[in-house]
Amino acid sequence: MVQYIYTFNEGNKGMKSLLGGKGANLSEMTNLGLTVPPGFTLSTESCKRFNESENKLWPELKEDIDKHVKQVEENQDKKFGSIDNPLLFSVRSGAAESMPGMMDTVLNLGLNKDSVEGLAKTTANKRFAYDSYRRFIQMFADVVMGIASVHFETILEQFKSEKNVEKDTDLEASDMERLTEEYLKTYKREAGEDFPQDPYEQLYRAVEAVFASWNNERAILYREINEITELLGTAVNVQTMVFGNMGDQSGTGVMFTRDPSTGENKLYGEFLINAQGEDVVAGIRTPQSLEELNDIMPEVYSELKTTTKNLESHYHDMQDIEFTIENGKLYFLQTRTGKRTAQSAIQIANDLYKDKIITEKESIGKLTTNQLEQLMHPTFDEDGLANAETIATGLAASPGAATGEIYFTAEAVEKAVTEGKQAILVRQETSPEDLAGMVSAQGILTSRGGMTSHAAVVARGMGKCCVAGVSALTVNEVDKTVKYSGGTLTEGDIISIDGSTGKVYTGEITLSGAKFDDNYKQFMGRVDKARELTIRANADTPHDAEQSLEFGAEGIGLTRTEHMFFDEKRISAVRKMILSDTTEERVKFLEDLAVMQKDDFVGIYEMMKELPVTVRLLDPPLHEFLPADEKEKSKLADTMNLDIEELNARILQLEEINPMLGHRGVRLAVTYPEIARMQAKAIIQAAIQVKKEKGYNVQPEIMIPLVGEIKEFTLIKEEIEEVIQDELAEAGIQIDYLIGTMIEIPRATLIADQIAEEADFFSFGTNDLTQMAYGFSRDDAGTFIPEYLEKGVFEEDPFQSLDIEGVGQLVQLAVDKARKVKPDIKLGVCGEHGGDPKSIHFFNEIGLDYVSCSPYRLPIARLAAAQSEIK
Ligand code: PEP
Ligand code: MG
Repeated sequence: MVQYIYTFNEGNKGMKSLLGGKGANLSEMTNLGLTVPPGFTLSTESCKRFNESENKLWPELKEDIDKHVKQVEENQDKKFGSIDNPLLFSVRSGAAESMPGMMDTVLNLGLNKDSVEGLAKTTANKRFAYDSYRRFIQMFADVVMGIASVHFETILEQFKSEKNVEKDTDLEASDMERLTEEYLKTYKREAGEDFPQDPYEQLYRAVEAVFASWNNERAILYREINEITELLGTAVNVQTMVFGNMGDQSGTGVMFTRDPSTGENKLYGEFLINAQGEDVVAGIRTPQSLEELNDIMPEVYSELKTTTKNLESHYHDMQDIEFTIENGKLYFLQTRTGKRTAQSAIQIANDLYKDKIITEKESIGKLTTNQLEQLMHPTFDEDGLANAETIATGLAASPGAATGEIYFTAEAVEKAVTEGKQAILVRQETSPEDLAGMVSAQGILTSRGGMTSHAAVVARGMGKCCVAGVSALTVNEVDKTVKYSGGTLTEGDIISIDGSTGKVYTGEITLSGAKFDDNYKQFMGRVDKARELTIRANADTPHDAEQSLEFGAEGIGLTRTEHMFFDEKRISAVRKMILSDTTEERVKFLEDLAVMQKDDFVGIYEMMKELPVTVRLLDPPLHEFLPADEKEKSKLADTMNLDIEELNARILQLEEINPMLGHRGVRLAVTYPEIARMQAKAIIQAAIQVKKEKGYNVQPEIMIPLVGEIKEFTLIKEEIEEVIQDELAEAGIQIDYLIGTMIEIPRATLIADQIAEEADFFSFGTNDLTQMAYGFSRDDAGTFIPEYLEKGVFEEDPFQSLDIEGVGQLVQLAVDKARKVKPDIKLGVCGEHGGDPKSIHFFNEIGLDYVSCSPYRLPIARLAAAQSEIK
């Protein structure tokens, strides 16, 4: 028989997929001997069965729930829903992957007309008992019946204004009792039925609602955005209530074992005295910082500190912990790996490693490639900041900087962004409904709520800049205004916000690039030690080469020589060469180009010194270099002594119906071998010069593109070998050069063994390989791939992340065939996929020697390669 329910001492932290993250960790903490209020977890498998049984609990499951309730009753010596010493439960969702605030929670479950009296008696606190009951009615109404909380909140507000008090805490026991009566009436009116008094019925219905919340709109959207797939559903945790709202010796809080923004090694968090957990998370009351707990309850603080640090060591990671203090006794309600900023992640990885809490390898797994990308996020330009006007300061909730127009709803932000604007979402406080707007916005600003409010937590997870709880700003979402001491902002006004300092500025401030500090260097040092895969850069100029070295390149994997042709000073020579009528004429213009190309290569070699540099012979169709507008054409006709008709006729001759599959790559070299010869000469002459002048043993690797037939390769190889040998003989010098090819035509993968016999190396051109494997034109696929993604035909754009199933097979086939005839052949990738973490993992697994990507992707590729190694 399938076990659907587990008590907290039956599970452990390894059972996340079955018990959800929260359930697995409640079990782990229970087994570690922490004070965890007892309870049980309904597994994700039971959620799956629930979803398959028309959203109804089945009779055996109800019996099983009853049995587990009885166990807790015995263990606690309390009775569920009874007037004598009543037992109450919280019911919370908890999926295998954390989805903060996305699903539902019900607290104080088990209260009814009897047990509320019982609770008043056992706690000798009638006010507290009725306060709990009215909260329960509101939550149950919201979660189970979908009745908007505003119905209840209005009653509370009215009540307070009638009594002329400001805070909830100013209401007395009799007020709470009367409020409860009003709430029960409102419930009946809105639900069309009495509030259920049977505690078991309350429990079944709450469990059903939490299971059903797995498929509510915001949970589905959250899973989509975070690419969470293949989970069965949510688990449900039914746990004995402990009360943080029992008076001055009670409270509730949320904390991290280290600072989630900076990574600093100190307890970091917030708490509220005399409150329930939801008050902290919802951002309704502004909480106190955790350090103040040390003044109020020093013993509790000290216990909290010791226990949470132990938890951190036990879990080998920074923890995010929820606790409740009930009459001076500390309870742990949740622990999980804490979400953190990129800056914090790298600091924590370094510190945990230095403190020997984690190994060198473990430390590499503590920063995701997405976080590393965030580290490369911009900050405000120093000069811009110096002149900016600060209008308020709030909490530095999620670092980074943003500048843009202010909008007050998620929809308005989305609209502005589709119109090409930069938008900042401004709200009093965000809720899960704002998610789509938060995704689109450049940054998020709220006037209420703390570091653990919805806005702060979600923004950090997204790596989006957020300033929260700016109480000096009055945000009016209806009038669409923000009032500050010096004036009023309206929709569309531009502001700038700094999520690392909490500062809010009027107007635009220029952003500048990320900085790489010592922490980054230490971390990347371990990353580079752990990986096997070499990382090279796609770089076309000495400047690109210089940047590549800064980002950690170990060579250049692709220099697209055509990019050098587009230079303003050269394009005219290139055009004349292309439009030449005879080979002699073409060779003459090529001689001019050879001088310029040689200079480019000298610059690159000098930068890369003895690291390998792969230079690709001309690849694009020649037509791409020709002028399109009439003025340019007539200028060219003049310099070539042609009349315009003649020039147009030659241009027309070069036009192609389908240039992507036309006269390009090695095909150009077959028809115009003089172009390949010129390039080979420039490549080798530059190498000779740098070796002579600088003494560097330069490593040029000449690459022939778009080969699909072995004879294409051998023909061009012979041509360029001849030039190279002549040059070397004349110079009387040796250069360690290689001649290889790109594998980017499906046929090339099928005859890879033949090609490997002749080629010194392969570099997979996965852009063209994807194009030709799918038959999708690279130039046109952008118009329909979004639709493919939307309709779920593709999970990812195959031009961004390698189609491992199909194109991956072609790569694998070529690798196997090539290695069979030449075991040590050098194999790499230079398509865009060389910078994509998932693709890199695949390339590493099939044993490629290197990947090559654009300079800004290099750190990400290095980390992805290291993480692939430790997976
Ligand atoms: C490729 O096709 O993957 C490649 C790197 O070449 P290009 O993008 O220049 O065609
Ligand atoms: Mg290509």
